[in-house]
Amino acid sequence: MIAALAGGVGAAKFLDGLVRVVHPSTTTAIVNVADDEHFHGLHVSPDLDSVTYMLGGVNNLELGWGRAGETFRTVDELARFGAPTWFRLGDLDLATHIHRTERLRQGASLSTVTAEITAGFAIAATILPVSDDPIRTRIITGSSASPVDLAMQEWFVRDRCQPTVLDVRFDGADTARPAPGVIAALEQAESIVICPSNPVISIGPILAVPGVTDVLTRRRHKVVAVSPIIGGAPVKGPADKLMAPLGIEVSALGVARHYREFCSAIVIDRVDDEQRSDIEALGMRAVVTETLMRDSDVAADLARTALAAIA
Ligand code: GDP
Repeated sequence: MIAALAGGVGAAKFLDGLVRVVHPSTTTAIVNVADDEHFHGLHVSPDLDSVTYMLGGVNNLELGWGRAGETFRTVDELARFGAPTWFRLGDLDLATHIHRTERLRQGASLSTVTAEITAGFAIAATILPVSDDPIRTRIITGSSASPVDLAMQEWFVRDRCQPTVLDVRFDGADTARPAPGVIAALEQAESIVICPSNPVISIGPILAVPGVTDVLTRRRHKVVAVSPIIGGAPVKGPADKLMAPLGIEVSALGVARHYREFCSAIVIDRVDDEQRSDIEALGMRAVVTETLMRDSDVAADLARTALAAIA
């Protein structure tokens, strides 16, 4: 069994490759939930849904998020009543959030509902929220004299990552319990992959759930990461705007330093070849290959390389 720590889109592309090189039923994705948010009374889980839609083969290739063939008539109609529509929820996507919200209201856990949703898309892999308990990323912006505390989606989508980041907090992480199956998957996995995801706000909240980092540290020889940073910049998204303020160098080497305590190998891009010796000086194996996942063949090759790095 392979376990993978996953954020949203970068992770989804990698997992799509992974399930082409190992049997999907032997793959367990442990997914960030700290970007979850309520919109129009609905519980939205962006990272769980990105992974689900990709593995279900119903993802939107043009947008890079959401459902293929999506329309936005409902959310646009909400503008009529003055409701905020900056978070784009597609008409098909809404069905997922309606089902999730109703089942949570009935008392089902997020992991139970996630299993129902993945079954609805006939996904053979296991997709687990890292926790059934609420964890919420807060982005601290403004100045140290008058800090402004924003929900992750307010900073990311509404404010388009413009407010300068001072700090990041994961509310609820201290007391969150790993969802059923999370620790067992990490204990039993023959390999654990840290997907190419935002190290701060996608992987960070997963690592903050009590118990997770302990298992990884104990099983460090089985843990491999794929760098989300290529040539000193993220492929997409705001990782650079979050890493730098937290003192993490925006480079493959910076990612390696950040993960070194619980990760024994990292896959980096060819353009970062010159960082290999510095990474190996940290006591990690560095493997160089093409890491820009232009299509699922590249993603599958990348997954094969990542697994071989700790075989
Ligand atoms: P988000 O929550 O949807 O932004 O998803 P993630 O945290 O999974 O992904 C964001 C990270 O994935 C960014 O830091 C990107 O640089 C990285 N990423 C996206 N596509 C690729 C790719 O093709 N290759 C690599 N190596 N990283 C990628």
